Amino acid sequence: MKRIYFQAGPTTLPKEVMQQAKEEWDDFLGTGLNIMEHSHRGSEYEGIHNQAKTRMKRLLDIPDTHEVLFLQGGASLQFAMIPMNLIQSGKTAKYILTGSWSEKAYKEAQKIGSCEAVVTGKDSEYRALPEMNYVSSENDAYLHITSNNTIYGTQWPDLHAFKHPNLVADMSSDIMSRPLSIKDYGLIYAGAQKNLGPSGVTAVIIRKDLLQENKSVPSILSYCVHAKNNSLYNTPPVYSIYLLNLVLGWIEKSGGVVEMEKRNHNKAQVIYDAIDQSNGFYNGYATPESRSNMNITFTLESDALEKQFIKESEENGIYGLKGHRSVGGFRASIYNAVPQESCDSLAQFMKHFQEKYG
Ligand code: PMP
Repeated sequence: MKRIYFQAGPTTLPKEVMQQAKEEWDDFLGTGLNIMEHSHRGSEYEGIHNQAKTRMKRLLDIPDTHEVLFLQGGASLQFAMIPMNLIQSGKTAKYILTGSWSEKAYKEAQKIGSCEAVVTGKDSEYRALPEMNYVSSENDAYLHITSNNTIYGTQWPDLHAFKHPNLVADMSSDIMSRPLSIKDYGLIYAGAQKNLGPSGVTAVIIRKDLLQENKSVPSILSYCVHAKNNSLYNTPPVYSIYLLNLVLGWIEKSGGVVEMEKRNHNKAQVIYDAIDQSNGFYNGYATPESRSNMNITFTLESDALEKQFIKESEENGIYGLKGHRSVGGFRASIYNAVPQESCDSLAQFMKHFQEKYG
């Protein structure tokens, strides 16, 4: 039976990407080697590295005011690198808390410099995005937001709501899922393992004036050092960047981020419809106005029914639906590479399950 997957990340990559990687496995461009066996200083890898950077710029319409970096350490390392590099003395970093990942980012910043949580959605158990009433102050180092809250299934619908001279956004779980206005950001970061490729590489888009040299920041943690070295200060994760480049090529061929946004909206709609038309059999975790088009979270009435749902979904070839341990229930993660048919199959299964047990 064909299996379909909805994991929160790492997750499925586009079939075409896996096919190309397979074809090039032991002979990259007639060299008789896999790309990961090539030197990161050689022309074969250099071509991939620069193509990936160019594709990022083209896909997100990144202006020359911003630099693209490929780093390691996941989004979690960015939780530390951002305050290390961007909190100047006398300034305070501001955080908007919309879930566990923004809490983690804030906790790391507290170890490093002056920071403050200015808006929080915790009162709603992170089911709803808080009202955005924060007005920037002269004293702010930056304002940190999480654009999509992977665990709770909430996503800021309109990122233009954030007006801040140094807006910093964790876009780990929705980068490349919709168009962005890059000029509105000081820094954007995203671990690759959801919408960009495999784990091991983190994309950072940073406005060039924020690339300040700071002697107290170790070289490997300095944006300035990575930018000066075109993200080749140390050995990059060659194979992860190779796959990221193929994924970006696939997004381009598919019609870019405008097409991704359309597809993701349609994919999410069929699953939200199954929840909303269930007369309360399925309960959406996120409030309707805060819903994510990337992670769809819902619960059933009892633990016994939830266990049965997982058992029968797997019998029907549907995997990866278990919700995060802090929320329970289910989470269908429908990143760019998840096709419409997978979402249709899940919605069908949900309807059949309800007919049987509702
Ligand atoms: N931020 C968000 C929004 C995430 O979803 C995740 C991972 N699921 C992280 C940060 C942490 O990413 P990493 O494991 O790459 O450090």
